[in-house]
Amino acid sequence: MPTSEAAKSSASAPPIHIQGLKKNYELGNRVVPALRGIDLTISDSGFYAIMGPSGSGKSTLLHLMAALDHPDEGAIEISGRRIDGLSEAQLTLFRRRHIGIIFQQFNLISTLTALENITLPAMLDGVSVAERNDRARTLLAALGIADRADHRPDALSGGEQQRVAIARALIFEPSVVFADEPTGNLDSNTSRQMWELLGKIAADRHLTVVMVTHEPTAAAYCRKVFVLSDGLIASAFDVDGMDAAQLAIRAQQSYR
Ligand code: ADP
Ligand code: MG
Repeated sequence: MPTSEAAKSSASAPPIHIQGLKKNYELGNRVVPALRGIDLTISDSGFYAIMGPSGSGKSTLLHLMAALDHPDEGAIEISGRRIDGLSEAQLTLFRRRHIGIIFQQFNLISTLTALENITLPAMLDGVSVAERNDRARTLLAALGIADRADHRPDALSGGEQQRVAIARALIFEPSVVFADEPTGNLDSNTSRQMWELLGKIAADRHLTVVMVTHEPTAAAYCRKVFVLSDGLIASAFDVDGMDAAQLAIRAQQSYR
């Protein structure tokens, strides 16, 4: 396991600390303000939700936090390490080693087996075959799909594919995992299992999992909800036993 400065200095730093984050997109000769000044701090590990209407900036925010893109203004610290000023090469390395990302489309490589998909980031980072296979098999077992190691994605159910994607996201034991609508392609039963699993992973591994979702049912599995509206944080509140119906009302009140 690579030990970097970021990993060493991270013990007491908040998993996520963001100040004054702004991001514009250019569309022809028009400027679309996607984020207009986001302040957001997550001080403890756990499972968190970002909600908000379509176009409110959820994916943009997640991409910036996950080191997939640069902000126009503002500071992003992940586990005590500033990432907003990093070069592309530095961002790529930081992302691979310290951040896990889970997408709605799973983004698995169709020609690789589950095991190969999971170990790919470790292979790119020069981890030995024995070590990376060992890590992947441990994760497959922890996620309940040990017997699927040699299957290609098209031989797996949607839920199994997402578990493979989660295992891939965990291969470097990141401190923060980001998920953008991770159950958007799954049925409601499988979705519930996935939310439960993400909550359990966060608790068991003292990991911070931040999930974008438009489903109040999903947010009910989280400890806190951040509501985005029009590129700003409209509200942030603890879930504290609220059910899906209560969460839906609470979230909608934030942007009306
Ligand atoms: P959400 O995930 O909440 O639906 P997004 O972060 O995808 O919102 O988008 C926020 C705003 O930025 C929207 O107005 C969207 O149309 C715009 N936007 C997002 N990505 C791009 C892009 N690549 N080019 C131009 N505009 C974009
Ligand atoms: Mg989105």
